[in-house]
Amino acid sequence: MRQLYRPLLSVITVSFLLLSTPIAQANPAPPIEVVASFSILANITKEVGGPLVNVASLVGPDADSHVFNPSPADAKSLARAQVVVINGLGFEGWIDRLVKSSGFKGALVVASNGVKPLDFKDETKSNAPEQKHSHKHDHKHNHAKDDHGAVDPHAWQDLKNGKIYAENIRAALVTVMPAARDEINARAHRYIAQIDALDQASRVRLAAVPEAQRRVISSHDAFGYFAQAYDVEFFAAQGWSTEREVSAADMAALIREIRKDQVRALFVENMSDPRLMQRISEETGVRIGGKLYSDALSAPGAGADTYLKMFSSNVNTILQALEP
Ligand SMILES: [Zn+2]
Repeated sequence: MRQLYRPLLSVITVSFLLLSTPIAQANPAPPIEVVASFSILANITKEVGGPLVNVASLVGPDADSHVFNPSPADAKSLARAQVVVINGLGFEGWIDRLVKSSGFKGALVVASNGVKPLDFKDETKSNAPEQKHSHKHDHKHNHAKDDHGAVDPHAWQDLKNGKIYAENIRAALVTVMPAARDEINARAHRYIAQIDALDQASRVRLAAVPEAQRRVISSHDAFGYFAQAYDVEFFAAQGWSTEREVSAADMAALIREIRKDQVRALFVENMSDPRLMQRISEETGVRIGGKLYSDALSAPGAGADTYLKMFSSNVNTILQALEP
């Protein structure tokens, strides 16, 4: 019996090696082409897809998606893409026209699908802190919907939403590449666990700062989800979109409120003009506590070139500025 089986097994082993190994190496599935609307989504997509995806970002590092003008080259890259990932929630006001004009026929993924959107305060009114104070104790409840029904698009600033983004991207990639399901699922699982760990750690670290000190000012109103999730009060000099100009009256009201309240720090943003915050700092004597990453990652190697590094950098910057 033994002698009979041994050669048979060897033949099977050799055939297996000859057949399977070289074929698997000769024909690796080429990565699929993915276009993400902005740098944060591009990174989340790369984390989930790894070597299975080539990801391009329409709006680059340190750049402003609110006022982006797509070029003909952007339309061409969409036309070649198999998957396009956007934030949704009205963030990319320019995306519908671009998708239509490009002739894109692939899968369009709205990463924020399933996120509980935050309503914006009426953006035609001032963002002076006094208004927000009236919401201070109920900001876990719904704000009244404004006339336009606009919602805050900056959902990625709550890591719990980041998990939803990663899950939506995972599901879309599995649909497009069913053969790579196990690899994609494993990568997404690991990545979502990392997001979770950072979420917990950030919550604990920020909660250690006395509540009355957790009051800061940012340039534009991009930290509503962060404020809600991590219980830091943000006042914004500018409305939710960088497109809105700050009027002299807005500015005067904001400066009055900063003087009256004990706002601890001002922050510039990586994708907004810092001059507005510099002026407020000069007029109020409140120091600039550093740079927050709101709507874009940093350039590669500059310390906030992934979603998780960006988030850590923001938490570290806020904590440093709030320390007495
Ligand atoms: Zn923004």
